Amino acid sequence: MSWRDNLIKIEPYVAGEQPNKTDFIKLNANENPYPPSPRVLAAVSNFNAESLKKYPSANALPLVKAIAKREGLNPENVFAGNGTDDVLSLAFRAFFNSKKPIIFPDITYSFNTVWCGILNIPYETVPVDENFNINAKDYARENGGVVIANPNAPTSIGRGLDFIREILDNNRESVVIVDEAYVDFGGTTAVPLLKEYDNLLITRTFSKSRSLAGMRLGWAMGSAELISALYATKDSMNSYPVDSIAQAAGAASFEDEEYFQSTLKRVIATRDRLTKELRAMGFKLPDSQTNFVFASHPKHSAREIFEYLKTKDIYVRWWGKPKIDNFLRITVGTDEETDALIAALKDFI
Ligand SMILES: *Cc1c(COP(=O)(O)O)cnc(C)c1O
Repeated sequence: MSWRDNLIKIEPYVAGEQPNKTDFIKLNANENPYPPSPRVLAAVSNFNAESLKKYPSANALPLVKAIAKREGLNPENVFAGNGTDDVLSLAFRAFFNSKKPIIFPDITYSFNTVWCGILNIPYETVPVDENFNINAKDYARENGGVVIANPNAPTSIGRGLDFIREILDNNRESVVIVDEAYVDFGGTTAVPLLKEYDNLLITRTFSKSRSLAGMRLGWAMGSAELISALYATKDSMNSYPVDSIAQAAGAASFEDEEYFQSTLKRVIATRDRLTKELRAMGFKLPDSQTNFVFASHPKHSAREIFEYLKTKDIYVRWWGKPKIDNFLRITVGTDEETDALIAALKDFI
């Protein structure tokens, strides 16, 4: 036996490429093309660096209060972490301790299988239909937990409250996680259902709609019981996860609803224009409720388009995976970036 036999064997999550150059158009990680609110910039530049000698507020209480206020919840129903990925990995650890497999769609956020791998959580994937729709009836089966992204990624398809309610009604004995990373771009939030279902946990991120991917901030909303299990898990791993600067920046982002809404509007308008342009070029894509589109072309392989765009310094996302290997996931950039993308695609086609 060598120490090598004891090293972890796991296939990690692979994020969108970050090329080693500066002059390129990055449409592969669903980042927001616009900066965070000026209130956030002020909170960061006026941050009192001396206060860094102290540990941050352990449970990010001021930030949690700001989130609770905006969502109409009590602070005991909110948990903040270092990005949704941090919150979700804690939630998987905290809630999925059954021997029964947890279930989630076969086409969804690819981090799910990675967490199941590292945390030894059994799982089964449930196929989406030929239009990438998730069928709520398929989730009426025994399981150790349910994870749904709504709107889903990378498909960009969002579903209404009835759909989430049906999944919850079929899963009274499981924790149901609804990942709402993209909900602000036109999806329907399940927050109104929190009053009725104490087994529902909703996660959100500052990375997409709030333009703070580099800050690493995300949160969860749920019953006090679920939220306490998250705190217990966090406090067993790392009790001070959200740093003081991130807490200040996050809270400031909630002080500027107007800027938030205006940024969303711009992204949505560009997305709808991009959708029309792509369809005019023959691409097939569902209506997006997110800040990206998921498109395929009947005459050209997604891989070839992906490689071609790279030669034009435009980076989009392509996975050579079953069912989606002829699709590109393209983040909505600024209008100029979108124009460059459209021009390059027209050239290619
Ligand atoms: C981007 C994304 C996340 C993670 O967001 P972070 O807060 O940056 O960790 C979670 N779920 C989905 C579906 C995402 O697309």
